[in-house]
Amino acid sequence: MDKARRVLEKLALADYEAYLVGGCVRDLLLNKIPKDFDITTNALPECIEEIFSGYRTLRTGIKHGTITVIFEDEPFEITTYRTDGIYSDHRRPDQITFSASLQEDLARRDFTINAMAYNEAEGLVDPYNGKEDLEKGILRCVGDAALRFEEDALRLLRLLRFASELGFHAEEKTEIAAYEKKELLEKVSKERVREECSKLLCGKHAGQVLVKWIKVLGVVLPELLPMEGFQQRNPHHKYDVLCHTAAVVDSIPEKPYLRWTALLHDIGKPWRYTVDKHGIGHFYGHAKESENIAEIILKRLKMDRESISKILLLIRYHDFRIEAKTELVKEWLCKLGKENFEDLLLLKKADLAGQNPLGGKKNRKLEALCAVTRDILERGQCYQLKDLRIDGNDLIENGMQSGEQIGYALHLLLKNVIKGCVVNEKEMLLDFLIKEELL
Ligand code: ATP
Ligand code: MG
Repeated sequence: MDKARRVLEKLALADYEAYLVGGCVRDLLLNKIPKDFDITTNALPECIEEIFSGYRTLRTGIKHGTITVIFEDEPFEITTYRTDGIYSDHRRPDQITFSASLQEDLARRDFTINAMAYNEAEGLVDPYNGKEDLEKGILRCVGDAALRFEEDALRLLRLLRFASELGFHAEEKTEIAAYEKKELLEKVSKERVREECSKLLCGKHAGQVLVKWIKVLGVVLPELLPMEGFQQRNPHHKYDVLCHTAAVVDSIPEKPYLRWTALLHDIGKPWRYTVDKHGIGHFYGHAKESENIAEIILKRLKMDRESISKILLLIRYHDFRIEAKTELVKEWLCKLGKENFEDLLLLKKADLAGQNPLGGKKNRKLEALCAVTRDILERGQCYQLKDLRIDGNDLIENGMQSGEQIGYALHLLLKNVIKGCVVNEKEMLLDFLIKEELL
C-alpha cells in the first residue's frame, strides 16, 4: 500500500491526476489485501513512461493505454483514462479513446463495486454507489445491464465469478439481463472461459453459484445441464446430481484442478442411470462415463495436459472401494503415486460430504483408509521401486544382465516387500532373489 501511495505521488508531482481503481479499491474496502494495484490517470502512456523513466516499465497493454511500472520489485498497471468504443464482436471494443475524465473511465467498468477510485487527496470517488452495493452484497452493472453484457459477454462470467468469490447476489435488473444475454457467452474464447470458471470454482460460494446459475453456465458447459434435478433414488444420496456436485465442489480444497475434478466427477451419471427391482437407482460405470465427458470438456477449454491427466485419473478412481489394508494401500500408492493418491482421498472425503451420512459407516471406513495411508507415509514404508534398498546397478553387480530380467526382479521384490514376505534390506533382498533362482 505504501508503494502504491508513492506511485500515485509521483504522478501527482508531475501534475497529473492519479487514483487507485477497480479491484484493489473494492478489496481495500472489504479489508482484504489486494492481489495487485491498478492505477488510472489522465497522463498519456508516453508521459507515464517519462515520469517513471528511472524504473523498469513494460508496454503491457500499450494499445489500451496500459504501462506496467516495476516499482521497487512490485508491478503496477497504470492506465490512461479511456472510454471504450463500439463492441462489434461482443468481446472487445473495436477502438478505445483516451479521455480526460475519471468519470468516463469509471463508466466503462463492469460492476458498481469495481467502478470506484481512490486517492488520498480526494478520498473515494464513487459515482455509482459501489460502496453501498459492497456493503449490501450486491452485484450491479454500471449502466444498462443488457447493454453492458452485450458489449462484452465475458462480464457474464465475471458476474458469476464475483458472486462465488464474494458471496454476493446480482441485483434484479442485472440478473434478468444475465439470463437474457447468456447465449452471448459463446463469443468468449475458450481460454477466458476456463480462467473465469477456475476462479468461480475456487470461490468460497462456488456450490451455491453453480446451482443458482446453472442455466448461464450451461451455455459454456452444456454437459452440466442434465445433472440439474436428476434424482438419484438411492439411500446414499439426499441430493440430486447437481446439488451433490455443488456440495463436493465446496468440500474439496480450493485448488483449480481439484475443484474441476469435483465439478466433473459425476457428470456422466445421468447417462448411466438404472433402477433395480426394488426401485433403487444405480449408476454403474458412471466414473468412466464422467471421465470421457470431462476429457471432452477440458480439451475444449484448452486446459494444460498435466491438469487434464490428473483430473481424469481422479475421476476414474473416485468410486473404487479401497479397503483400509496396508498391503492394498501400498499397491494404490505405487500405482497412482503419493500425490495423486492423497488427492483421491480428498475427493472421496468431499464426495461423502455431499451424501447422506447413513450412520457414518462410510465415513468411518474412509477415516480408517486415511489413517493407514498416513501411517505408511509417516513411517517412510516402502511402496514403490525407488524405496527398495536395492536398484538395477546392484543386480548388474550381482551378475544379472538383461534389462527385462532386472525389471522383473525389482517388481517381484517390491511385491514381496509390500506383502511382508521379505524385509527391505539389501542382503535379504539379494537372498530372496537367490532363492527364487533369479541370481
Ligand atoms: P481480481 O481481484 O480478480 O483481479 P478485478 O476486479 O481487479 O478482480 P481485473 O480483471 O484485474 O479484475 O480488472 C481490473 C478492473 O478493470 C476491474 O475491477 C474493472 O473495473 C475493470 N474490468 C476488468 N474487466 C472488465 C470488463 N470485462 N468489463 C469492464 N470492466 C472491466
Ligand atoms: Mg485485479
